[in-house]
Amino acid sequence: MTGNRILCDLCSAPAVYLDRTRDSHLCKEHLIGQVEKEVKNYLNKLPDLPQTIGIAFSGGKDSTSLLKVLSCITDEIPCKFIALTVDEGIDGYREDTIKAARETCKILGVSHHIIRFSDLFGSSLDNLVSGSDRNACTICGILRRRALEILAQRHGIRVIATGHNLDDHAQTAVMNAISGDTKKIFTGLGSSQWYAKRIKPFAHVSEREVTLYAMLTGMFRNLPECPYAITSLRGEVRSLLYQYERKHPGSMKNAAKCEEILREKFGNSFEREPYRVCSRCGWPGSGNICQVCNVLDNDRTNSQ
Ligand SMILES: [Zn+2]
Ligand SMILES: [Zn+2]
Repeated sequence: MTGNRILCDLCSAPAVYLDRTRDSHLCKEHLIGQVEKEVKNYLNKLPDLPQTIGIAFSGGKDSTSLLKVLSCITDEIPCKFIALTVDEGIDGYREDTIKAARETCKILGVSHHIIRFSDLFGSSLDNLVSGSDRNACTICGILRRRALEILAQRHGIRVIATGHNLDDHAQTAVMNAISGDTKKIFTGLGSSQWYAKRIKPFAHVSEREVTLYAMLTGMFRNLPECPYAITSLRGEVRSLLYQYERKHPGSMKNAAKCEEILREKFGNSFEREPYRVCSRCGWPGSGNICQVCNVLDNDRTNSQ
């Protein structure tokens, strides 16, 4: 520190960020470098890097930062990146975010593909939930996952990167523990004939770092929030973890690490229930009718 100015621990530039878990101050350049290094390390540790990675690109802050990082390190990682966007059909929210997503891909020179609920399922999310008391986020989650898989399959993509960060991981780890359902810890491990493998290059980057990265690289945009985002268990866990993190720096990292170790150690030996094939659409599911067909069935019943 000189005078009132706090300086970067690695150079003499003004600090923009305090990493409380490492107790170190970083300047703009060193924070950007640290985020990019974490992503490179993550990708280099993957056992088999595919030729093409699809990026689940909502146009929001996290996936925009991810796209920016990947476009900056593209010379050092021997694979191609393609942005995949699902347009759920949400009035007053999706128009702006889709427009921002298109512009971002253009600026970064990344090829971009969009799939729409209305084309795929014959109805937008707004139409599916209007006049019903069904939970929009649950329905959206089920349909978005299928839509993203279909879009990935169309482009021969077997690995999808998502913008989930360290904070998301810590929240999920705590939510999984609270649910008492150990199966949840091991979901999404490995790829199957149907589902692309999911990877999370921001797994070791905090939400604050991701947000600052977007701001410092000029990629941050003030976009509308999804109108269906409601107070949820995740919201409660999120505030609780922030309180813990303030008092005990490193708590979130530890919660995420704990689940990561369990997945690494026991992922292969965990017995999964075999998939059953949906009698309507032929996709795998846990029952005779898959969740997607169930959601769409309910819609037809409601509109009769
Ligand atoms: Zn520095
Ligand atoms: Zn089905």
